[in-house]
Amino acid sequence: MVTVEEHVSRARADTNRKRRYRVGILGATGTVGQRFIQLLEHHPQFKVTALAASDRSQSKRYAQACSWRLPGAMPDGVRFLVVEVPHPPLDCDFVFSSLPSQIARDTEDAFARAGYPVISNSSAYRMDEDVPLLIPEINHQHLALLSVQRGRGFKNGAFIVTNPNCSTIILALALAPLHARFGIASAAVTTMQALSGAGYPGVASHDIADNVLPFIEAEEEKIESETLKILGCVNQESIRYPSMSLSAQCHRVNVTDGHLAAIRVKLIHGTELEEVRETLASFQSLPQELRLHSAPDYPIIVRDEADRPQPRLDRDTQGGMSVTVGRLARDQVLDYRFVALGHNTIRGAAGAAILNAELLIDKGYL
Ligand code: NAP
Repeated sequence: MVTVEEHVSRARADTNRKRRYRVGILGATGTVGQRFIQLLEHHPQFKVTALAASDRSQSKRYAQACSWRLPGAMPDGVRFLVVEVPHPPLDCDFVFSSLPSQIARDTEDAFARAGYPVISNSSAYRMDEDVPLLIPEINHQHLALLSVQRGRGFKNGAFIVTNPNCSTIILALALAPLHARFGIASAAVTTMQALSGAGYPGVASHDIADNVLPFIEAEEEKIESETLKILGCVNQESIRYPSMSLSAQCHRVNVTDGHLAAIRVKLIHGTELEEVRETLASFQSLPQELRLHSAPDYPIIVRDEADRPQPRLDRDTQGGMSVTVGRLARDQVLDYRFVALGHNTIRGAAGAAILNAELLIDKGYL
């Protein structure tokens, strides 16, 4: 039996799905900001109408402020937009934020207080109890936290929704179907992370040429804490964390885009290798069911060749929105091991936030 409220909310979501939203990008000149602009160029639901960055870029036209570092030309639609101060008001319906975390906390709060929904890449709010750390394929139920977030008193029902750290997204997508089906008792991950993950200009060339850096500040802690929040269940409008132990070691490697993660898992309910493979390869979820614009057909692509996945060959799979898994085998220490690869600025950042926005529209939040 559909209630009147549900009927009204579905009708509103139907109207919103056909609407074109005016979008602002905070941190628009950066590595993730440029990726937002590229991915939004032909997006049917979004039009970029406002850009903001630091005082280095403010008051300049985007073409003048931004040194475009992606293949292909800067989209015409943004060339003449003037880069503004990242402070409300901006000429848009909501903002995507790719600001450095130190300034994101106050800035994102200011936008939400002024009535602009904030869909953020930044780590500032990810672990707040009332903020969804959203991967639509895994934990769309966490949007229930937004009713708790109303307690913050943001204007006009605005909110903050975050996407996880770039390595966390890749790891969590690979673990989620296994956790749902067999339960994961423990997991260990070793990452090899691309240069673009450090923003621009990022790591000095002299430090990374002919080298691997075995330290990325706060990354191991983020992966360990965020993954457990993502895999948690909503329990009376808070998250109940799984009793899984997780260990992460992170390395910066000399690759432009694409984070690789070598993963070992111990399962609660034992199973056969073929079943693990099938569980990963057949995984689909709500974004695929709803046919969201940025959703890949399959979030996980399993490759059986001995030498895949590789960043250069596999990072753009399904427009960069799928995680490629390979090297799946039984493990002598834990139960199974495999390697997962994802595009850090697409599935790990801008593409993730855009998919979140598409889900928020479909669910009637935007
Ligand atoms: P980035 O290349 O260094 O870009 C930073 C952006 O923020 C630029 O647009 C910069 O503007 C702006 N900015 C810097 N300081 C500012 C200030 N004081 N006030 C206003 N704007 C300021 O960094 P990024 O890699 O795009 O990362 C952006 C955010 O996304 C970070 O929070 C990062 O942790 C997160 N993230 C990054 C990745 C990735 O793969 N790179 C993945 C997931 C999440 P100017 O050009 O004017 O200086």
